[in-house]
This record gives sequence, structure tokens and C-alpha cells, in this order.
Amino acid sequence: MDCNTDLHQAAEPSVENLVWTLEEASQVYELPFMDLLFQAQTAHRENFDPNAIQMSRLLSIKTGGCAEDCGYCSQSSKYPTGLKATKLMEVEKVVDEARKAREQGATRYCMGAAWRSPKDRDMDSIVAMVTEVKALGMETCMTLGMLSPEQSERLSHAGLDYYNHNVDTSEEYYSKVITTRTFADRLETLANVREAGIKVCSGGILGLGESVNDRISMLVTLANLPVPPESVPINMLIPIPGSRLANSGRVDPIEFVRMIALARIMMPNSAVRLSAGRTEMSDETQALCFLAGANSIFVGETLLTADNPGEDHDNKLLQRLGLKPMSLVSPSIGSAQC
Ligand code: SF4
Repeated sequence: MDCNTDLHQAAEPSVENLVWTLEEASQVYELPFMDLLFQAQTAHRENFDPNAIQMSRLLSIKTGGCAEDCGYCSQSSKYPTGLKATKLMEVEKVVDEARKAREQGATRYCMGAAWRSPKDRDMDSIVAMVTEVKALGMETCMTLGMLSPEQSERLSHAGLDYYNHNVDTSEEYYSKVITTRTFADRLETLANVREAGIKVCSGGILGLGESVNDRISMLVTLANLPVPPESVPINMLIPIPGSRLANSGRVDPIEFVRMIALARIMMPNSAVRLSAGRTEMSDETQALCFLAGANSIFVGETLLTADNPGEDHDNKLLQRLGLKPMSLVSPSIGSAQC
């Protein structure tokens, strides 16, 4: 962010070449709540239809048994979470599921595998999934762990639209959450994906025992990437019994909304996704998140392995709020998410 920018003014539509400091971001975060929401909503309206929400479906194509030790995750083999591991799904089965999602109105299909990184032997199947889901006329997104430049290139050539790879938390707090890889590893994959021409989806999780400064620092990292992520998922921790961070404490809903608003102001062109943890949020908290600039959600009964509100509830909430699904041809979707 430009050091001279008046923090009480709405952010400029494009801040891609500006650099935020932690201090500047903290000043915005600490604005009186009404001023913060007004600024966020103003930035939102300058870049998006304020009454449109992008909706995606997410499928776990390979569940559990992951070698990583992410302290929040049900799928890590390091914790007794009781989750049954499965092998990589057959390509045909994935395409069938994508077809069903398309019939129910989904325009983007997100596929997630619980891996540290894909093995070379899995790449042919992964590439086939991208190609065949694309052939259904859907946008594609994957989250598969760390990617090499070569793997990123292959996925790009297959037509992958988005790659999700969350930074999770601040660089300073990262080792408290995950010890089997580093924050720098995370940034390297994001750079590989970007270099290959795939759009980036990257955000984090609140409620891991981190400080407010850690949360803001995470957004500073994302906003200061050479190109900010097109999609920024902000998750509320779903405590998984047996996982290392299951008892980290709840996030205050107002603090959560402040983070959504800050993400919107710092990355005004990005889709801000209200992600995991919506089942724990009241409808009123979600409405405040939308007011603060969140404009994307996952729909469906489950989110990888966690509960999600389900389409009936979401449809009713969106209807009550007068929100409509974002159209695939909307100009805003060009900077959307996975
Ligand atoms: S978050 Fe992903 S990488 Fe980490 S343990 Fe879970 S599945 Fe593995």
C-alpha cells in the first residue's frame, strides 16, 4: 500500500504494485468497525457486483493418510482423527461427480488430494481429470500440495484454471502449525504455479492459536506477492478431535469479520472466499462477512472431510439477503477463485 494513502479512504481499485507494511495493515484493521466496513464495502463495490456470490463445489479425490503434520487437519496421518484413508479416485468417477455438480448449477469444480505433493505416477490421472472436467465446460481447480515447476507446467498445459495452496498463517507462526514443511516451501509452490500461468488461490485459517498480528501478517504476505492471489479463502478453524490444534480456542466473530474486511481492502480485485467453518457461524455473522466483502463460498454438504451448511440452508440465506449466484460470464469471475 502506498504509505501516503489515507487509510480512511477506500482503497484504489488496483494495488498490485503497492506494498503494504504490517503497521499500515494494522491501522486499517483497528479502524472503528463501522468505518472499516464502509471502506471495505466501498472497495468491494468498485470491483464487484455487491449482490453476487461465486459458488464452487469441492471434491476430495484422495482422502487422508497425508504425510504432512498440519496441526488443524483431519487428514494428517500423524493424528488419531479416525479418518479412513482412500486411494486416488478413478478419473471416470471424478468426471461423473463433476457432471452432477454441473447439473446442479456449479460452474467451477475444485478437486483436492491429501498429499505432501503429487507423485509422478499420479500425474497422468490428475491431468486426465483436468482435461475431462474442462471438457464438460467447467472451470477447474486443484489442491494437491507442493508442486514442482514441471508439475505446474503439466497442469497448466492440461488447462487447469486455478491452484489452491494456502499459506495458512503468518511466516512467524508457521512452525507452530506445521513442521514438515516451511513457509518458504509454500511460497515456492505459489511462484511455480504463477509462473506456469495458473491462477492462484491462497489464504489461511483463523483460530490456530495465532495472534491478531499473525493474521494481519498473513494478509500482508499475500497482498505483497508479485501478483496477489485471484482468490483468498479465509477459513475459521473447524476443531478436529485428535488433531494437535483442536483446542486452540474460538475466534471472535467480530475479529473474523474485521479480517474479511481487511482482506477486501488489501486485495480489492481478488475474490474473498468465506470458506471452512461456516457451519459454526450464525447467519448474521455470514451476512456481516458478505457486507465486509466476502463474495465466494463453497456449496454442498461437505468440504473435503468437514461439514458445510448444505445447499438448502445456503439458498435460503442467500435469498434472505437478496444475493444471487455470480455468473460465469461476469467480468468479476476473471479474478475468481478455487
Ligand atoms: S492440510 Fe493438506 S497437506 Fe496438511 S495434513 Fe491436511 S491434507 Fe496434508
